[in-house]
Amino acid sequence: MVLVYIAFGSNLGNRIDHVRQMTSELEYIGGATMRCSSLWLSEATEMDSDAGDFVNGVIELKTKLSALALLDRLQQIEVAMGRPADHGFHTARVIDLDIICYGNQVISTPRLTVPHPRAHERAFVLNPLFELAPELKLPGLDQSLSEMIGKAPPMKILQLPPNQAEKNGSLA
Ligand code: AMP
Repeated sequence: MVLVYIAFGSNLGNRIDHVRQMTSELEYIGGATMRCSSLWLSEATEMDSDAGDFVNGVIELKTKLSALALLDRLQQIEVAMGRPADHGFHTARVIDLDIICYGNQVISTPRLTVPHPRAHERAFVLNPLFELAPELKLPGLDQSLSEMIGKAPPMKILQLPPNQAEKNGSLA
């Protein structure tokens, strides 16, 4: 079994419902050891101007799948949940799933780069990852998660308390 961390984000429709649906789909591939961070609200950056805030978080799971088979499953979940296969980079998304790290492997193929190449600069990935695994070192990178959090570009981000998460919060 390999310990993996998967970042998720949704900024379209009922974001909390999408996250719930996605976590129940992931349970089928992860088994009983899945853990989910709290939910974080973050401003949409590098997106179309009308894009709504994201609900973000990170999931830890153990899997027997290879990294590429895991990516296949994540992409199947994205498409099954209504994300167009040919979506634009700047387009709002029902659900976005990224493999942040896959055990201690460093992977660089045309389809998959692990650790995720932008994880270290994304507060909406680093904060929930730190909640789950404060001592985690991303393979190939020297800094600790808390150092990366300190250096990440500033952005509006808010940790949702559990009751607020039920209400589909807003940063505004
Ligand atoms: P995105 O629009 O952010 O979901 O990017 C999806 C594309 O990134 C797909 O073509 C994937 O093959 C590729 N990709 C490369 N590395 C990763 C990774 N670590 N996790 C998820 N997708 C990845």
